[in-house]
Amino acid sequence: MLDIPALRAALLAWYDAQARDLPWRTGPAAGKAGQRSDPYRVWLSEVMLQQTTVPHATPYFLGFIQRWPTVSDLAAVDDGDLMAAWAGLGYYARARNLLACARAVANDHGGVFPDTEEALRALPGVGAYTAAAVAAIAFDREANVVDGNVERVMARLLAVETPVPDAKPELKRLAGDLVTGERPGDWAQALMDLGATVCRPKSPLCALCPVSAWCEGLKTGLPETFPRKLKKPARPHRHGVAYVLTRGDQTALVRRPPKGLLGGMLGLPTSDWRSEPWLDEEAAAAAPAAGAWLEFGTVDHVFTHFSLTLRVLRAETNADGDFVWTEPAGLSGLPSVFLKAVKAGRERLV
Ligand code: SF4
Repeated sequence: MLDIPALRAALLAWYDAQARDLPWRTGPAAGKAGQRSDPYRVWLSEVMLQQTTVPHATPYFLGFIQRWPTVSDLAAVDDGDLMAAWAGLGYYARARNLLACARAVANDHGGVFPDTEEALRALPGVGAYTAAAVAAIAFDREANVVDGNVERVMARLLAVETPVPDAKPELKRLAGDLVTGERPGDWAQALMDLGATVCRPKSPLCALCPVSAWCEGLKTGLPETFPRKLKKPARPHRHGVAYVLTRGDQTALVRRPPKGLLGGMLGLPTSDWRSEPWLDEEAAAAAPAAGAWLEFGTVDHVFTHFSLTLRVLRAETNADGDFVWTEPAGLSGLPSVFLKAVKAGRERLV
């Protein structure tokens, strides 16, 4: 049975002594003296940290704060300037959301962040995690702040056997059981620090862990095997036919549909890609033009979600069609799956 008060006391005492010094953070001593973190800084840092590490995000954070010290300053920035300042943090949709949120706070809330999780969640681009983090850290609200680090700590602490992602609701509930009205902001940050510095994804430093006495994962002898993960399903295999249609040196390309795999890119005409191999008559019937189609072997390619074998057929033609006739030099920029097929089709010619 987990002794929640004792575990909380141990982790908060560790945080009081070991809290990371972060430029957006008001440390535990200052917090006890009544100082709170600036919600603008907390929000900005949380958005930056969603896809990158503290060392990578820190110079960006400092640059932003220097140029735009308040959320109203940020709200007034030109979109292009913000995108340029964000370059290197990736995920530009996040930068656009950042600006939309800053403008909502400036225009609809008088430049003052709302102080409840619910009202924060209503701001553009603010998800459940960020709303909880800002509510807890900046306003000391009793919020359950659960990111991947906290999920890992919970899975280990309680030796949760359900694999992720199915375990996520359970891990969130377990994390919520540990949140109380006492120092909720420090609690959230203590858990974050524990996950980032001690209960690390690989090689957790259990000998230094302030909550090791309660850790069921440690008792198993293999704490790093938590959270359990589902085995990845085998990658399905598909078959298709690629048609190398030539007119002298030129090769016929087609523009792929804007959505879907390799969307909007030029490629060879192909059949559908399906689980069964294509028979000769089916391959001929699916060809983009009539012609004396010759067999040029197969090429294999592996995509993220499936692998593909393409039969390569080639024909010389003067056929009209919605083709982009392309000289050899123009073929080098093709996606590699088509480049392989073109090479197979053309090299065997000579
Ligand atoms: Fe993580 Fe080890 Fe601490 Fe358990 S004892 S919470 S596995 S660092």
